[in-house]
Amino acid sequence: MLVIGSANMDIVVRALRAPAAGETVMGLDYALYPGGKGANQAVAARRAGSYVQFCGCLGRDAYGEALRAALLADQVDVCALGVSETPSGVALITVEDSGENRIIVVPGANYALKPEGLPEIVRPGTVMLAQLEVPIETVLNGAAKVRSAGGTVVLNASPVTGLSTASGAALLAATDVLLVNETEAAMLLDVAELPAPAAAAQRLAQGRRAAVITLGSDGVVWAEQAGCGHIPAHHVEAVDTTACGDAFAGGFAAALEAGKTVEQAVRFGNAAGALTATKPGAQPSLPQRGDIVAFLER
Ligand code: ADP
Repeated sequence: MLVIGSANMDIVVRALRAPAAGETVMGLDYALYPGGKGANQAVAARRAGSYVQFCGCLGRDAYGEALRAALLADQVDVCALGVSETPSGVALITVEDSGENRIIVVPGANYALKPEGLPEIVRPGTVMLAQLEVPIETVLNGAAKVRSAGGTVVLNASPVTGLSTASGAALLAATDVLLVNETEAAMLLDVAELPAPAAAAQRLAQGRRAAVITLGSDGVVWAEQAGCGHIPAHHVEAVDTTACGDAFAGGFAAALEAGKTVEQAVRFGNAAGALTATKPGAQPSLPQRGDIVAFLER
Protein backbone atom coordinates (compact mmCIF):
# COMPACT_ATOMS: atom_id res chain seq x y z
CA MET A 1 0.00 0.00 0.00
CA LEU A 2 1.10 3.55 -0.65
CA VAL A 3 0.07 6.06 2.01
CA ILE A 4 0.53 9.72 1.03
CA GLY A 5 0.06 12.15 3.88
CA SER A 6 1.14 14.13 6.88
CA ALA A 7 3.34 13.40 9.86
CA ASN A 8 3.13 15.76 12.83
CA MET A 9 4.59 15.82 16.29
CA ASP A 10 1.71 16.25 18.74
CA ILE A 11 2.84 18.45 21.64
CA VAL A 12 0.27 17.90 24.36
CA VAL A 13 0.18 20.26 27.36
CA ARG A 14 -2.11 19.56 30.30
CA ALA A 15 -3.28 22.58 32.31
CA LEU A 16 -6.05 23.20 34.85
CA ARG A 17 -7.47 25.66 32.35
CA ALA A 18 -6.38 27.25 29.10
CA PRO A 19 -5.08 30.84 29.25
CA ALA A 20 -7.27 33.75 28.16
CA ALA A 21 -5.86 36.27 25.65
CA GLY A 22 -2.78 37.97 27.14
CA GLU A 23 -2.74 35.63 30.16
CA THR A 24 -0.08 33.12 31.29
CA VAL A 25 -1.02 29.99 33.22
CA MET A 26 1.23 27.28 34.65
CA GLY A 27 0.82 23.91 32.94
CA LEU A 28 0.80 20.54 34.75
CA ASP A 29 3.00 18.61 32.29
CA TYR A 30 3.60 18.03 28.59
CA ALA A 31 4.34 15.09 26.33
CA LEU A 32 5.31 14.47 22.69
CA TYR A 33 3.40 11.93 20.58
CA PRO A 34 3.95 11.04 16.92
CA GLY A 35 0.81 11.85 14.93
CA GLY A 36 -0.62 13.34 11.74
CA LYS A 37 -3.36 11.59 9.80
CA GLY A 38 -0.93 10.23 7.19
CA ALA A 39 1.51 8.66 9.65
CA ASN A 40 -1.32 7.36 11.84
CA GLN A 41 -3.03 5.70 8.88
CA ALA A 42 0.28 4.27 7.63
CA VAL A 43 0.88 2.65 11.04
CA ALA A 44 -2.76 1.50 11.21
CA ALA A 45 -2.53 -0.19 7.79
CA ARG A 46 0.86 -1.74 8.61
CA ARG A 47 -0.44 -3.19 11.88
CA ALA A 48 -3.55 -4.37 10.04
CA GLY A 49 -1.29 -6.54 7.89
CA SER A 50 -0.27 -4.51 4.81
CA TYR A 51 3.19 -3.80 3.48
CA VAL A 52 3.13 0.02 3.67
CA GLN A 53 5.22 2.61 1.88
CA PHE A 54 4.76 6.07 3.42
CA CYS A 55 5.25 9.15 1.26
CA GLY A 56 5.49 12.35 3.28
CA CYS A 57 7.85 15.16 4.22
CA LEU A 58 9.64 15.92 7.50
CA GLY A 59 11.76 18.82 8.66
CA ARG A 60 15.50 18.46 9.20
CA ASP A 61 15.01 18.55 12.97
CA ALA A 62 14.65 16.46 16.11
CA TYR A 63 10.89 16.02 15.65
CA GLY A 64 11.51 14.78 12.13
CA GLU A 65 13.98 12.19 13.44
CA ALA A 66 11.52 11.04 16.10
CA LEU A 67 8.67 10.78 13.57
CA ARG A 68 10.84 8.72 11.21
CA ALA A 69 11.89 6.46 14.09
CA ALA A 70 8.25 5.88 15.07
CA LEU A 71 7.40 4.76 11.52
CA LEU A 72 10.46 2.51 11.35
CA ALA A 73 9.55 0.93 14.69
CA ASP A 74 6.39 -0.30 12.97
CA GLN A 75 8.30 -1.50 9.88
CA VAL A 76 6.75 1.15 7.63
CA ASP A 77 8.83 1.63 4.46
CA VAL A 78 10.19 5.20 4.63
CA CYS A 79 12.14 5.25 1.32
CA ALA A 80 9.71 7.90 -0.04
CA LEU A 81 9.77 9.98 3.15
CA GLY A 82 11.46 13.24 2.20
CA VAL A 83 13.18 15.96 4.21
CA SER A 84 12.69 19.73 3.81
CA GLU A 85 14.34 22.83 5.23
CA THR A 86 10.89 23.80 6.61
CA PRO A 87 10.40 22.58 10.20
CA SER A 88 8.43 19.38 10.82
CA GLY A 89 4.68 19.70 11.18
CA VAL A 90 3.44 20.08 14.74
CA ALA A 91 0.08 20.01 16.50
CA LEU A 92 0.03 22.18 19.62
CA ILE A 93 -2.63 20.69 21.87
CA THR A 94 -3.79 22.12 25.19
CA VAL A 95 -5.93 19.81 27.28
CA GLU A 96 -7.84 21.39 30.17
CA ASP A 97 -8.73 19.50 33.35
CA SER A 98 -12.32 19.38 32.07
CA GLY A 99 -11.08 17.36 29.06
CA GLU A 100 -11.75 20.27 26.67
CA ASN A 101 -8.94 20.65 24.15
CA ARG A 102 -7.63 23.40 21.88
CA ILE A 103 -5.48 22.51 18.89
CA ILE A 104 -3.33 24.52 16.51
CA VAL A 105 -1.76 22.55 13.66
CA VAL A 106 1.27 24.06 11.93
CA PRO A 107 1.69 21.98 8.74
CA GLY A 108 5.34 23.03 8.17
CA ALA A 109 7.18 20.42 6.08
CA ASN A 110 3.93 18.59 5.23
CA TYR A 111 3.09 21.43 2.84
CA ALA A 112 6.52 21.06 1.22
CA LEU A 113 5.61 17.59 -0.09
CA LYS A 114 5.91 18.01 -3.86
CA PRO A 115 4.87 15.60 -6.64
CA GLU A 116 8.62 14.98 -7.20
CA GLY A 117 8.63 13.39 -3.75
CA LEU A 118 6.36 10.56 -4.93
CA PRO A 119 7.97 7.15 -5.45
CA GLU A 120 9.20 6.60 -9.02
CA ILE A 121 7.48 3.27 -9.36
CA VAL A 122 4.28 2.08 -7.76
CA ARG A 123 3.50 -1.61 -7.57
CA PRO A 124 0.84 -2.76 -10.04
CA GLY A 125 -2.53 -3.10 -8.33
CA THR A 126 -1.48 -1.24 -5.20
CA VAL A 127 -3.96 0.57 -2.98
CA MET A 128 -3.22 4.23 -2.32
CA LEU A 129 -4.58 5.79 0.86
CA ALA A 130 -4.38 9.58 1.20
CA GLN A 131 -5.82 12.43 3.25
CA LEU A 132 -5.76 16.19 2.67
CA GLU A 133 -3.13 17.43 5.14
CA VAL A 134 -0.56 17.65 2.32
CA PRO A 135 -0.75 19.60 -1.00
CA ILE A 136 -3.66 18.37 -3.10
CA GLU A 137 -1.57 18.50 -6.31
CA THR A 138 0.77 15.87 -4.82
CA VAL A 139 -2.14 13.64 -3.85
CA LEU A 140 -3.60 14.09 -7.34
CA ASN A 141 -0.29 13.12 -8.97
CA GLY A 142 -0.09 10.05 -6.75
CA ALA A 143 -3.64 9.08 -7.65
CA ALA A 144 -2.89 9.36 -11.38
CA LYS A 145 0.22 7.15 -10.97
CA VAL A 146 -1.60 4.53 -8.96
CA ARG A 147 -4.52 4.44 -11.37
CA SER A 148 -2.29 4.05 -14.40
CA ALA A 149 -0.68 1.08 -12.60
CA GLY A 150 -4.13 -0.49 -12.23
CA GLY A 151 -4.35 0.37 -8.53
CA THR A 152 -7.15 1.63 -6.31
CA VAL A 153 -7.34 5.14 -4.86
CA VAL A 154 -8.88 5.50 -1.40
CA LEU A 155 -9.28 9.15 -0.40
CA ASN A 156 -9.99 10.04 3.20
CA ALA A 157 -11.16 13.59 2.42
CA SER A 158 -10.04 14.95 5.77
CA PRO A 159 -9.89 17.85 6.33
CA VAL A 160 -12.32 18.87 3.55
CA THR A 161 -10.10 21.44 1.90
CA GLY A 162 -9.06 22.35 -1.63
CA LEU A 163 -11.66 20.10 -3.22
CA SER A 164 -13.46 22.95 -5.00
CA THR A 165 -10.31 23.77 -7.01
CA ALA A 166 -9.54 22.21 -10.41
CA SER A 167 -7.06 19.84 -8.74
CA GLY A 168 -9.68 18.95 -6.14
CA ALA A 169 -12.25 18.11 -8.83
CA ALA A 170 -9.67 16.02 -10.70
CA LEU A 171 -8.76 14.20 -7.47
CA LEU A 172 -12.40 13.42 -6.71
CA ALA A 173 -12.78 12.13 -10.28
CA ALA A 174 -9.74 9.86 -9.74
CA THR A 175 -11.00 8.53 -6.38
CA ASP A 176 -12.28 4.96 -6.35
CA VAL A 177 -13.37 4.92 -2.72
CA LEU A 178 -14.27 8.09 -0.83
CA LEU A 179 -13.99 7.75 2.95
CA VAL A 180 -15.28 10.46 5.29
CA ASN A 181 -16.88 10.99 8.69
CA GLU A 182 -20.33 12.54 9.17
CA THR A 183 -19.11 16.14 9.36
CA GLU A 184 -16.98 15.77 6.25
CA ALA A 185 -19.84 14.08 4.36
CA ALA A 186 -22.13 17.02 5.19
CA MET A 187 -19.47 19.49 3.98
CA LEU A 188 -18.95 17.58 0.72
CA LEU A 189 -22.70 17.48 0.10
CA ASP A 190 -23.02 21.13 1.12
CA VAL A 191 -25.70 20.50 3.76
CA ALA A 192 -25.76 21.74 7.38
CA GLU A 193 -26.69 18.34 8.79
CA LEU A 194 -26.56 14.89 7.24
CA PRO A 195 -30.18 13.73 6.72
CA ALA A 196 -30.02 9.97 6.07
CA PRO A 197 -26.45 8.60 6.15
CA ALA A 198 -27.19 5.77 3.71
CA ALA A 199 -28.65 8.19 1.15
CA ALA A 200 -25.65 10.47 1.66
CA ALA A 201 -23.28 7.57 1.02
CA GLN A 202 -25.17 6.73 -2.17
CA ARG A 203 -24.79 10.30 -3.40
CA LEU A 204 -21.07 10.32 -2.57
CA ALA A 205 -20.63 6.97 -4.37
CA GLN A 206 -21.95 8.32 -7.67
CA GLY A 207 -19.35 7.91 -10.40
CA ARG A 208 -16.96 5.83 -8.28
CA ARG A 209 -16.61 2.32 -6.86
CA ALA A 210 -17.83 3.16 -3.35
CA ALA A 211 -18.26 5.70 -0.57
CA VAL A 212 -17.97 5.05 3.16
CA ILE A 213 -19.18 7.31 5.98
CA THR A 214 -18.02 6.58 9.54
CA LEU A 215 -20.54 7.53 12.22
CA GLY A 216 -18.50 7.19 15.44
CA SER A 217 -20.38 5.07 17.99
CA ASP A 218 -23.20 4.65 15.43
CA GLY A 219 -20.94 2.56 13.19
CA VAL A 220 -20.49 2.90 9.43
CA VAL A 221 -22.58 3.21 6.27
CA TRP A 222 -21.29 2.40 2.84
CA ALA A 223 -22.64 2.48 -0.70
CA GLU A 224 -21.45 0.95 -3.95
CA GLN A 225 -23.14 0.36 -7.29
CA ALA A 226 -24.38 -3.05 -6.11
CA GLY A 227 -26.08 -1.64 -3.01
CA CYS A 228 -25.54 -0.08 0.38
CA GLY A 229 -25.56 -1.04 4.03
CA HIS A 230 -25.08 -0.04 7.65
CA ILE A 231 -22.86 -1.85 10.15
CA PRO A 232 -23.44 -0.89 13.80
CA ALA A 233 -20.40 -0.09 15.95
CA HIS A 234 -19.14 -2.80 18.33
CA HIS A 235 -20.09 -2.33 21.96
CA VAL A 236 -16.84 -1.54 23.72
CA GLU A 237 -15.82 0.46 26.75
CA ALA A 238 -14.59 3.58 24.97
CA VAL A 239 -11.85 5.39 26.91
CA ASP A 240 -10.41 7.58 24.11
CA THR A 241 -11.72 7.82 20.55
CA THR A 242 -8.62 9.66 19.24
CA ALA A 243 -7.42 8.03 16.01
CA CYS A 244 -10.53 5.82 15.60
CA GLY A 245 -11.00 7.34 12.14
CA ASP A 246 -7.35 6.64 11.27
CA ALA A 247 -7.63 3.06 12.56
CA PHE A 248 -10.73 2.56 10.42
CA ALA A 249 -9.04 4.00 7.31
CA GLY A 250 -5.89 1.88 7.71
CA GLY A 251 -7.81 -1.30 8.47
CA PHE A 252 -10.30 -0.73 5.66
CA ALA A 253 -7.59 -0.05 3.06
CA ALA A 254 -5.50 -3.04 4.22
CA ALA A 255 -8.50 -5.36 3.85
CA LEU A 256 -9.34 -3.92 0.43
CA GLU A 257 -5.76 -4.49 -0.73
CA ALA A 258 -5.97 -8.08 0.52
CA GLY A 259 -8.84 -8.61 -1.94
CA LYS A 260 -11.81 -8.26 0.41
CA THR A 261 -15.11 -6.76 -0.76
CA VAL A 262 -16.07 -3.24 0.32
CA GLU A 263 -18.49 -4.69 2.90
CA GLN A 264 -15.86 -7.06 4.32
CA ALA A 265 -13.33 -4.21 4.45
CA VAL A 266 -15.86 -2.01 6.27
CA ARG A 267 -16.36 -4.78 8.85
CA PHE A 268 -12.59 -5.06 9.34
CA GLY A 269 -12.19 -1.28 9.70
CA ASN A 270 -15.14 -1.14 12.09
CA ALA A 271 -13.40 -3.66 14.37
CA ALA A 272 -10.09 -1.76 14.15
CA GLY A 273 -11.88 1.49 15.08
CA ALA A 274 -13.64 -0.12 18.05
CA LEU A 275 -10.41 -1.61 19.43
CA THR A 276 -8.71 1.79 19.14
CA ALA A 277 -11.47 3.37 21.26
CA THR A 278 -10.61 1.01 24.15
CA LYS A 279 -7.09 2.42 24.62
CA PRO A 280 -5.73 5.93 25.24
CA GLY A 281 -3.59 7.82 22.72
CA ALA A 282 -3.30 7.80 18.94
CA GLN A 283 -0.60 5.52 17.47
CA PRO A 284 -0.18 3.41 20.65
CA SER A 285 -3.87 2.45 20.54
CA LEU A 286 -3.88 1.19 16.92
CA PRO A 287 -4.52 -2.59 16.91
CA GLN A 288 -2.49 -5.39 15.34
CA ARG A 289 -4.03 -7.65 12.68
CA GLY A 290 -4.20 -10.64 15.06
CA ASP A 291 -6.22 -8.61 17.58
CA ILE A 292 -8.65 -7.42 14.88
CA VAL A 293 -9.17 -10.96 13.55
CA ALA A 294 -9.66 -12.38 17.08
CA PHE A 295 -12.11 -9.58 17.91
CA LEU A 296 -14.18 -10.34 14.80
CA GLU A 297 -14.18 -14.08 15.59
CA ARG A 298 -15.39 -13.67 19.19
P1 ADP B 1 -13.39 10.27 13.05
O1 ADP B 1 -12.48 10.17 14.23
O2 ADP B 1 -12.67 10.38 11.75
O3 ADP B 1 -14.51 11.28 13.21
P2 ADP B 1 -15.34 8.25 13.75
O4 ADP B 1 -15.55 8.92 15.07
O5 ADP B 1 -16.51 8.16 12.84
O6 ADP B 1 -14.09 8.84 12.97
O7 ADP B 1 -14.83 6.76 14.08
C1 ADP B 1 -14.37 5.89 13.08
C2 ADP B 1 -14.85 4.48 13.35
O8 ADP B 1 -14.29 4.00 14.59
C3 ADP B 1 -16.37 4.34 13.55
O9 ADP B 1 -17.05 4.25 12.32
C4 ADP B 1 -16.42 3.05 14.34
O10 ADP B 1 -16.19 1.95 13.48
C5 ADP B 1 -15.22 3.19 15.28
N1 ADP B 1 -15.61 3.85 16.55
C6 ADP B 1 -15.48 5.16 16.87
N2 ADP B 1 -15.96 5.42 18.11
C7 ADP B 1 -16.39 4.23 18.60
C8 ADP B 1 -17.00 3.80 19.82
N3 ADP B 1 -17.25 4.67 20.82
N4 ADP B 1 -17.30 2.49 19.95
C9 ADP B 1 -17.07 1.60 18.98
N5 ADP B 1 -16.49 1.93 17.80
C10 ADP B 1 -16.16 3.22 17.59
